[in-house]
Amino acid sequence: ASGSDENDVVVIGGGPGGYVAAIKAAQLGLKTTCIEKRGTLGGTCLNVGCIPSKALLHSSHMFHEAQHSFANHGVKFSSVEVDLPAMMGQKDKAVSNLTRGIEGLFKKNKVNYVKGYGKFLSPSEISVDTVEGGNSVVKGKNIIIATGSDVKGLPGITIDEKKIVSSTGALALTEIPQRLVVIGAGYIGLEMGSVWGRLGSEVTVVEFAADIVPTMDGEVRKQFQRALEKQKMKFMLNTKVVSVDATGDGVKLTLEPSAGGDQTILEADVVLVSAGRVPFTSGLGLDTIGVETDKAGRILVNERFATNVPGVHAIGDVIPGPMLAHKAEEDGVACVEFIAGKEGHVDYDMVPGVVYTHPEVAYVGKTEEQVKSLGVDYRVGKFPFLANSRAKAIDDAEGIVKVIAEKESDKILGVHIMSPNAGELIHEAVLALQYGASSEDIARTCHAHPTMSEALKEAAMATYDKPIHM
Ligand code: FAD
Repeated sequence: ASGSDENDVVVIGGGPGGYVAAIKAAQLGLKTTCIEKRGTLGGTCLNVGCIPSKALLHSSHMFHEAQHSFANHGVKFSSVEVDLPAMMGQKDKAVSNLTRGIEGLFKKNKVNYVKGYGKFLSPSEISVDTVEGGNSVVKGKNIIIATGSDVKGLPGITIDEKKIVSSTGALALTEIPQRLVVIGAGYIGLEMGSVWGRLGSEVTVVEFAADIVPTMDGEVRKQFQRALEKQKMKFMLNTKVVSVDATGDGVKLTLEPSAGGDQTILEADVVLVSAGRVPFTSGLGLDTIGVETDKAGRILVNERFATNVPGVHAIGDVIPGPMLAHKAEEDGVACVEFIAGKEGHVDYDMVPGVVYTHPEVAYVGKTEEQVKSLGVDYRVGKFPFLANSRAKAIDDAEGIVKVIAEKESDKILGVHIMSPNAGELIHEAVLALQYGASSEDIARTCHAHPTMSEALKEAAMATYDKPIHM
């Protein structure tokens, strides 16, 4: 069915970038085929990323709350234990329901779905080695490359997905490791470290740089690191991993200071390598048609998501920009709108970042460090959740809101939130930034009481005036 009829759009990759682009294209009346090699739709995000990690973060949080917080709320029981296979089962169920949901959306929108590995024969012809074992050629006037990213390995470290794991292995451990070492203090490492730490692992995070999550505002980052340390997560910053060797029943890491110096040994039961992700274009045949990439292997595109080869576009993790699912989705919609002769627009400065630990950290716009380095005159308004009634009522008040606004105009430049559910709270700030709002615009907007969102209103107030509740 897929084969010889020409498509208006062929999307290679069924992740959040690719499947969203395919649905949007079909909705705009374009004949569309999506090629995905994995056998299931949803890409990294749905199969081995955003969704399974959030499932485990929620389940492990419930266990941790049951152990450490329920008694404070007068909820008592004699014992609480982890049933890891059941926890993993709930995660797997969520993933499979959602992947099948996208297949349903493809059917509903009449997107033709081809399961197989796509490879360019020409700028308008893709050879597909199908999952069933055959081969077919899919033709399209426009091709969208949405092949995403893959785990970045470290030189000399062999990932076996059992004792030395990537995020994929860390989402599917069959036992709770006694000692987990996480290499890399980015959001993925901290989220997976939180999951296993809550379930009982001693977690040590080793990071080459001086700071955790480099994209975070410095002041919020400090508080965030303290919050994680209170949860017994240990940090070894400015530390280089020299080697990682599987031993009889564990793993031995050799470390040294990033700046050079004496080596030390760290032992673990499981090591998670989460040193970042790299664009994935292997076996795609980019050379055959001459698509340009940068030194990091990312496909170069213009503001219309067009590559240097006419008719060939690229979106998501495989091009420069934040490597996030919601960014990939925005790329996908805009790219298709351009193909359909409409206008599209994605502003990477307006892409929120969220770390789904507890508390969560969410941010949009500029950090104080960035504003300072731009030489802009600015004001900062802050409000702690300790002074927020809802946070106190539920006894979950660790965190802060920080609003940064331009001094002269009061225009909001950045908002940084650490709190339970910060990932939900941030969108008011994203909308405000998107519409060029001032902090006074937020402060004069009525916020329901008692809600966590009132902390953002108060921080906005604190930017140009005084907050009420502090
Ligand atoms: P991908 O999701 O990587 O999809 C690309 C797809 O293309 C894959 O399914 C692949 O099989 C397929 N493909 C590749 N080459 C071919 C080929 N030649 N032929 C056919 N198919 C091919 N982001 C967030 O925004 N929020 C989060 O909470 C979050 N959590 C994460 C947690 C983890 C553990 C990880 C690893 C990532 C997380 N991310 C998160 C990042 C997010 O997963 C990615 O940014 C997102 O998946 C990128 O989407 P994409 O469509 O560009 O690529």
